Amino acid sequence: MYSMNPIEEIRGQFPALGQSVWGKPLVYLDNGATSQKPQCVIDLVNRMHCGANANVHRAMHKLSDDATALYEGAREKVREFINAPARENIIFTSGTTASVNLVASSFCRKFLGEGDEIIISGDSHHSNIVPWQMACQAAGASIKVIPVLENGMWDMEAFRGLLGSRVKIIAVEHISNVLGIVNPIKEVIDLAHAQGIPVLVDGAQGIVHCKVDVQELDCDFYAFSGHKIYAATGSGVLYGKQQLLEQMPPYMGGGDMVDTVTFEKTTYAPLPLKFEAGTPNFIAQASLAPALEFAQGLREGEIARVIEEQECAIVEYLRSALQEIEGCTIYGLPPEDGYAAGLDAGLARTAELGASGELGEPARFGEPGSKIPLFSFNIQGCFPSDLAQLLDKMGVAVRTGLMCCEPLMTRFGVTSMVRVSFLPYNTLDEAKYFIASLKRAVRMLR
Ligand code: PLP
Repeated sequence: MYSMNPIEEIRGQFPALGQSVWGKPLVYLDNGATSQKPQCVIDLVNRMHCGANANVHRAMHKLSDDATALYEGAREKVREFINAPARENIIFTSGTTASVNLVASSFCRKFLGEGDEIIISGDSHHSNIVPWQMACQAAGASIKVIPVLENGMWDMEAFRGLLGSRVKIIAVEHISNVLGIVNPIKEVIDLAHAQGIPVLVDGAQGIVHCKVDVQELDCDFYAFSGHKIYAATGSGVLYGKQQLLEQMPPYMGGGDMVDTVTFEKTTYAPLPLKFEAGTPNFIAQASLAPALEFAQGLREGEIARVIEEQECAIVEYLRSALQEIEGCTIYGLPPEDGYAAGLDAGLARTAELGASGELGEPARFGEPGSKIPLFSFNIQGCFPSDLAQLLDKMGVAVRTGLMCCEPLMTRFGVTSMVRVSFLPYNTLDEAKYFIASLKRAVRMLR
């Protein structure tokens, strides 16, 4: 299917990647914040705005039927992508933030009481901190935090010590948007379940870089945003186990989430609509279908091997190139042996599959302890915001600031970092151009 340069073919499907900024070809390395959109997603959004633009689930006319079919079709695609048992498990939200807020509000109203505890991971994004704080304030409960080690990995010994009968839910990052390490979420889930505690996984970054099978993981909730995995902005997902979702009260009230309404009393619609009050962003949600189809295509067959090799090459290159820059601190480098073992296991598995002619899902997608192509760093004597501005003028888009992870910044004693994050459409040449531009920027600032 792919010719000589499959990565170029992939890039060709993303119109935004072909542009210049400040007269330089764009090198977009802010994928952790949001991904660019492939033509198939752009086409679907245009097609719906031009044609199947009518409110879903409500009307007895063709346009509404078409929009509903696309909306519900996307739900089925999400179900298949994460291997959820049924459509009832898939709640559409506006993104990870909305998904976590839904659980923090609804689950905690039902199950959290005074003196109870919630465990979150120390690398949490603000959207996996603040909603739980709000729930704890309402219930008189408190938050406990899994400490992050100097190398960016979780202190699992400390985590075991936090478990106990007062813990009502655990909410952890699959992959931190700052540290870029695949966390041992399966181990956390197993330890939690041994004590009957449900686990929510913030998969905003995880869904992009790992194969996620919610039944295999056995997580109770998995939250992610569509816009980080090629879909239109405003799309998001909350996966939940049905028996938990059934017990939880609705989050918001309004149209579409009801069965019958009187002024005295309302009965609610069955799952998943019970949690989808009001007009959803149905065009964005529908775009999850082509987006996940596209993502799936990158994880299968020969192209998956090419992408995996390239990602490993980028990770290796950046790790050593950044470390060679004087005064550079990288945040989130797993120990050499664990890290290498993670990569080696993935590569060995790919080679094995390649040799047997059965190319499938590369093992590296999801290997705990492995580093994804996302690096956060600081360089002595250079303000991150100055570096970002100079890099921008050279065509390189990077992220700086607190990255919505202020407690993690505090943990590392800084108030800002620079982050570069790659997707399969980014090349090793772009990584090299970024390093050359960074060195130039450092020379200008020192
Ligand atoms: N969690 C993580 C790890 C993230 O990286 C992000 C976004 O950067 C979020 C949560 C919040 O996602 P959204 O803003 O799409 O709701």
